[in-house]
Order: sequence, then C-alpha cells, then structure tokens
Amino acid sequence: MGETIIPLADLRYHAAVPAIPARLEAPTGTLRDRLRRPLRDLRISVTDRCNFRCSYCMPKAVFDRDYQFLPQKSLLDFEEITRLARLFGAHGVHKLRLTGGEPLLRKGIEHLVAMLAEVRGADGQPLDITLTTNGSLLARKAHALKAAGLSRVTVSLDALDDGIFRTMNDVDFPVADVLAGIEAAQAAGLAPLKVNMVVQRGVNDHEAVTMARRFRGTGIVLRFIEYMDVGATNGWRMDQVLPSAELLRRLQAHWALEPLQPNANGETAERWRYRDGGGEIGLISSVTQAFCRDCNRARLSTEGKLFMCLFATQGHDLRALLRGGRSDDEISAALGALWAQRDDRYSELRSSGRAPHDGAERRVEMHYIGG
Ligand code: SF4
Repeated sequence: MGETIIPLADLRYHAAVPAIPARLEAPTGTLRDRLRRPLRDLRISVTDRCNFRCSYCMPKAVFDRDYQFLPQKSLLDFEEITRLARLFGAHGVHKLRLTGGEPLLRKGIEHLVAMLAEVRGADGQPLDITLTTNGSLLARKAHALKAAGLSRVTVSLDALDDGIFRTMNDVDFPVADVLAGIEAAQAAGLAPLKVNMVVQRGVNDHEAVTMARRFRGTGIVLRFIEYMDVGATNGWRMDQVLPSAELLRRLQAHWALEPLQPNANGETAERWRYRDGGGEIGLISSVTQAFCRDCNRARLSTEGKLFMCLFATQGHDLRALLRGGRSDDEISAALGALWAQRDDRYSELRSSGRAPHDGAERRVEMHYIGG
C-alpha cells in the first residue's frame, strides 16, 4: 500500500459562513450551477464515526484510538437536518442519501428517516430516501428502517473471501454478518438493493468475478467502483486503480453483457446487464471515465458544512446560519447562491492531467461527507 499521509489541516474547522443575498429570491426548483447542472441529489453524512477502518477511507494509522471524532453537540440534530432537507427539496433535490462514516451508528436513525419521509420536493412529491451502509448493523435495523420510510439501501462489500474482507475492513469483521444484513434488507423489501465494491488492483480485484457470480440472478445490482484519491490519508496511487474497461473485459470472459441506458441524468454508474437475464451490474469510473458533466450532487457534513464536490477543499457553514437565527428564506437564498456559483469538476480535470493539486493535502475526507 502507498505511503500514509497524516492530515495537516483538519478541514472540519475551516468553512466560510455563506453570505445572505440582498434579494431573497424564492426557490423555483430549477436551480442550475455554472456548468448548467441542476441540484438533484443531497448526500447527508449523519456521523463521522465508523466501526470499520477501510484503508481507502479511514486508515487505522490516522483514525486510531486517539483520533478526536466530532462531539455530539456539534452534530446537526434531526430537526436541523430535516429543515435543510426541506429547503434543498424546494430547490429541486429529490433524492436524499444518508451516509457517514457508518450511518447506522447514529442513534435513532429510524426517527430521522421518518422525519425526512414527511418532506416534499419542489414537485410536491416525497423525496426518495436511500442509505449507504457497511452492512454491519443492517440485520438488526432493516425492518425498522423500511417501516420508517426508507425506500432502498446500498451496502458496501469489498470481498466475499472472509480473510480478504477482514483485512480490508481492518477490524476483523466477518463477511457473514454483512451477507446476513443484505438478506435482512431483501426480506424487509428495501429495493432495489445495491452492493458497492471498491476495486483495488493487487488487493481485491481478483474477487470481482466471484462477487459477480454470487449476486447474479439475485435481483441485487452489484457496482464496481474504481479506487479513488479521495481525502488526503489513503496514499492513493494510479497503479492501484483497475480501470473499469479492464474489469468489464474480465467479466465478459465469463458472461455476455450489454449496455443499458442510465436510469436518470447524473447517475454515477454505467449500467450493464447479463444477456442471459442474470440481472444488472454497474461500473463507477470516476478515475478513468469522469462523470462531472452531469454531477448534480451536493454533500452535507455531519456538522452542517456544505461541500460541492467529493474532492472539495472548502466547505460552507450552514450550521452557523441555522443556529444564527436565520430565516428559511435567508438560508434558502444562500443555498441558491452557493449552487449557482458551483463549477466543481475535479475528476474531469484529473482525467486530463489538470487536477488542482494545490490544497490536495486539505481535500475533505470521505468518512466526513459520505462517498
Ligand atoms: S469529482 Fe466532484 S464534480 Fe466530479 S462527479 Fe465527483 S463530486 Fe461531482
């Protein structure tokens, strides 16, 4: 594995408080950023804690027992999260993804789901609520989450081989318990159910065909994610990336696959299906086939900092507005102005060798804003 870099500046404490525009324009649901991209998807990190230490996200060398996680009082509470979700909804967001760290570690997460299920978008419809989890607590929580209003779930699973899985999560957690969580989610009716595998060359890439064989014909959509240079702690190197094109060739050596149309604009996964009816897979190729052109995602950190890109180096402090007595109209206008100024396209720049390196050491950590 590459050299581990200790974060020099902890981004959690550096974020500008957004200005309130002089004119408070009412949201129209048709907001666009500087690259004409709409705001459709809000990822909400509900905790910066996790019970795994995956080296590509929270390497143990950095996130050890001395690491200071955020104090409870600094986290957005459920009322604040729901208020922001409502304001984002009015601007056009129709999908909420709950993330972390590990979101199921957040106490009472079912109650938050139930509160968010009451929120309506600009079209008056309920928002689509989903969640990304490492599956470790899913067997216990699946039914309650479904009952609370969660529609579907994505489970991160990087290997089926128990030894490799335990090494990758770096806390010796057994793969059987995650598989039991996936079964419980299916039984609870959380669908479509997706499984995300981060593929690292020389670590778990040889498991890709085994994973495909395991989930073919189950109705579960397996997505393969290229290993990314997120944050500043995972020591990423390009030679550890297995390009999706190469992975696809490996799968096609076993099964005939054909491309599918995206479900919606801005979808991160390139969809493929087995010709023999064995279901669908996805390829998420941020490194070799950047998809910034349609990126309609904003990210909210655990304590209310808004980030416009997974590779951002600067956040916007919405909590200061929430706890500073600002009205809905003021916060909504500030959100609109922030999105309208957005021009992030890190992966696209990286792919063309023009990635902004200055501040790279301060790139936000994935466990803090969710993948
Ligand atoms: S690199 Fe940033 S702008 Fe590009 S797709 Fe990812 S989050 Fe969106």
